[in-house]
Amino acid sequence: MANPLYDQLFGRHAGRETPFLHLADGRTLTHAAFLTTAARFAHALNAFGLGPGDRLAVQVEKSPEALALYAACAQAGVIFLPLNTAYTPDELAYFLSDSGARLFICDGRRMGGLTPVAEAAGARIATLNADGSGSFTVIARARTGTYPTVPRDAEDLAAFLYTSGTTGRSKGAMLTQANLISNAEVLTDVWRFTARDVLLHALPIFHTHGLFVATNTLLLAGGSMIFLPKFDTDAVIAALPRATAMMGVPTFYTRLLDDPRFDRALAAPLRLFVSGSAPLLAETHRAFEARTGHRILERYGMTETNMSTSNPYEGERIAGTVGLPLPGVDLRIADPETRAELPQGEIGQIEVRGPNVFKGYWQMPEKTREELCEDGFFLTGDLGRIDENGYVQIVGRAKDLIISGGLNIYPKEIEEALDAQPGVLESAVIGVPHPDFGEAVVAVLVPAPGTGPDLDAIAADLRTRLAAFKQPRRVVLTPALPRNAMGKVQKAALRAEYRDSFA
Ligand code: ATP
Ligand code: MG
Repeated sequence: MANPLYDQLFGRHAGRETPFLHLADGRTLTHAAFLTTAARFAHALNAFGLGPGDRLAVQVEKSPEALALYAACAQAGVIFLPLNTAYTPDELAYFLSDSGARLFICDGRRMGGLTPVAEAAGARIATLNADGSGSFTVIARARTGTYPTVPRDAEDLAAFLYTSGTTGRSKGAMLTQANLISNAEVLTDVWRFTARDVLLHALPIFHTHGLFVATNTLLLAGGSMIFLPKFDTDAVIAALPRATAMMGVPTFYTRLLDDPRFDRALAAPLRLFVSGSAPLLAETHRAFEARTGHRILERYGMTETNMSTSNPYEGERIAGTVGLPLPGVDLRIADPETRAELPQGEIGQIEVRGPNVFKGYWQMPEKTREELCEDGFFLTGDLGRIDENGYVQIVGRAKDLIISGGLNIYPKEIEEALDAQPGVLESAVIGVPHPDFGEAVVAVLVPAPGTGPDLDAIAADLRTRLAAFKQPRRVVLTPALPRNAMGKVQKAALRAEYRDSFA
């Protein structure tokens, strides 16, 4: 009997003294050592009463042991449910009760506050600290370092990954072994990962980007990762000379560009820089190329679908696009109301179908029915178009679309015009209620360091670039845009803040 996820990602490395994780303190953990920890953890999961199909909820700092929990779940057939370290006890109460997790592993420093939360949700609680110590480790340490892998089917669930909650309450996406494996295979192939690769990994591991896109791909390829606890510019700059590739969110790349030490020589040893999770500004893409000679490879995906499109490894990487559908992925642009496929070039909802697409939202049959269609397409809620070369461009989220006086306004078009203005570092455009127009455009600007923007000059310039109905009716300045851990701008928070602009 087999367990495809464990066998293909982890089991293949059994007994191999090859490097897997290069840690910040200079230690290197081999595949064999990592798998031994994972096997002990799998025994410990059983000791806590977890068996195949049970959920393990985890809110811990990034560490090799935290990653070993994922491997342990795969080996024991337990469903892995990692949670954002920023979640508060109130938020965790929802995730624990919603998921029906049997065990909750948290950082020891939060144990006191979270014990009642776990109890109320009917979950047991154990700890795992950033340094690998904790009550869970104590139980695990006493067990043997080999574990009889639990047989699983490719269609069995491997993880519940909760969406980022950018547009509303997070939803638990049920991902099968096959969802994860198929995407890892495709990404390893299209991005040319091999055992020689060393990935600079500074992403969180509670999200699809750092956990599945990065980790599964490197595990399948047999390469290693420089495993940094978080993105810290000094640490990343120090690690770059040892890396062959890096995956990041756009803010990683803008932070590197803000540092004069980041130059062509530092980037030279790497063969690939990948960006995703939030839109990479075309301007960042160009500045990165001017500084390093590298063209960032932007790709697009989401919790529910893993990765769906990518710019090519060989061939043209086009700034402002997320590239072509990945092999095996069907992608169409359709009318959000009728689902009729739209002619090439028109803007509509992005729909995705393929082995990468999840099985539905946990305990949300209605929402699953609405968004996961009978013909297999998942309605992403993202708006986009396909250009004349077949590249996908994301225009924004359907929920961020502004309808003013009955006309559709895509915030991105206005944001691009604003970002190009002198004195503007970045911008976010939202729609807020307006008594005459239904919604009206509000522009939130972050001034560039030094001289601030000249709002009259900006308004005059926008009048020459954009139709009257797209003009911002209100412009506000703010020191920084609200962003989550993945660098996503929290537009719902901005809409709430400026809701009464025209009341
Ligand atoms: P929620 O679904 O809870 O509102 P979320 O959609 O932000 O949150 P994720 O699954 O983490 O949760 O993010 C997926 C979304 O991120 C995509 O639907 C898309 O809007 C955005 N995204 C990912 N990659 C890119 C990219 N390269 N360019 C633009 N947007 C991207
Ligand atoms: Mg989403």
